[in-house]
Amino acid sequence: MHIDYYETLSVSRSGSGVEIKKAYRKLAMKYHPDRNPDNKEAEEQFKLCTEAYEVLSDESKRKIYDTYGYDGLKNSGYNGPSNAEDIFSSFGDIFSDLFGFSGGNRTRARRDGPVSGNDLRYDVEVSFMEAVHGVSKEVELTRRDTCWTCEGSGSRPGHKKEVCPSCNGRGQVVRSQGFFQVSSTCPQCHGEGEIVTNPCSDCEGSGLVEKTKKVALKIPPGVDTGARMRLRGEGEGGRRGGTAGDLYVVIHVEDHEFFKRDGSTIYCRLPIPMVKAALGGSVEVPTIHGKKSLNISAGSQSGEVITLRNEGVRSLRGGGKGDMVVEIQVLTPTNLCGEQKQMLKEFDGLCQKHGQHEEQEGFFKRLFGEVLGKN
Ligand SMILES: [Zn+2]
Ligand SMILES: [Zn+2]
Repeated sequence: MHIDYYETLSVSRSGSGVEIKKAYRKLAMKYHPDRNPDNKEAEEQFKLCTEAYEVLSDESKRKIYDTYGYDGLKNSGYNGPSNAEDIFSSFGDIFSDLFGFSGGNRTRARRDGPVSGNDLRYDVEVSFMEAVHGVSKEVELTRRDTCWTCEGSGSRPGHKKEVCPSCNGRGQVVRSQGFFQVSSTCPQCHGEGEIVTNPCSDCEGSGLVEKTKKVALKIPPGVDTGARMRLRGEGEGGRRGGTAGDLYVVIHVEDHEFFKRDGSTIYCRLPIPMVKAALGGSVEVPTIHGKKSLNISAGSQSGEVITLRNEGVRSLRGGGKGDMVVEIQVLTPTNLCGEQKQMLKEFDGLCQKHGQHEEQEGFFKRLFGEVLGKN
């Protein structure tokens, strides 16, 4: 169902043009986007009341709407609400004329000065090890760059821009909108006051051309996901002598199969055969800086951690390397042959004899006796 225009503006169906104007003025003041930056709801309200005003302030549209409703209006050729940009160009300026505050710089004419290029963002994936040790990468970027045939002016070399005939160089045109004199951005020169009459053939008058460029990225050791690098002047090209924008490179680090990382600390799980865990001895540990040998003590258990100082990631902000934390994971042997089983059974017998199952037995005694047995 379509919203009632009279309800939107809170005026009666017999309301006069003056009342409608007053009602719209009040609502537009309240919901104007310059007073409600980044407020979608206000923008929606502003659009709604502007649409209502567009129709009710126009005598013939209002008559059709009163008689045949919204569908009748649509059938009469009304194309529905203007989009936001249109609203600013058709009604934006009445705010400065009538309400005494600026309609915002959206409608202000841009003069024929230098225009800086836009900043660009480039997301780059690096492997876990590349992030740890740093890497130099060359990436190919396609972006709009200054057209050097016309030096970004848009005019064919040897030709100059001409004063826009639609607005005589003012960048704004005035037209009647209902009972208002409305000035809006000149559609021919887009507010620049000048037009390109002999467009540069390379950029078709825009002053910018698509160019592919190789950009060298020197990614320092220690970067992590979300790190940003700013490359000055590698963004979109400027026009009419304006400076180029910057390029922001955003790093994404891939996961590693064995290593995990938290800041400058590296975590790794180290599988150790049961016998080695029981007897202790030297094992090899893979680190991000290469293989290291590590002595584990006899009787090592699953879940025990060993910290290797300075085997972590070099800090991006200087000041040494982090640590590596190794978690021991004791491997229980599988697929035993008959002889191995026999030996383990004998081994178990010796454990019984030495009372080495006591800890486990104590655990069950406490569990069943004290916790479960009382109920
Ligand atoms: Zn050009
Ligand atoms: Zn113009």
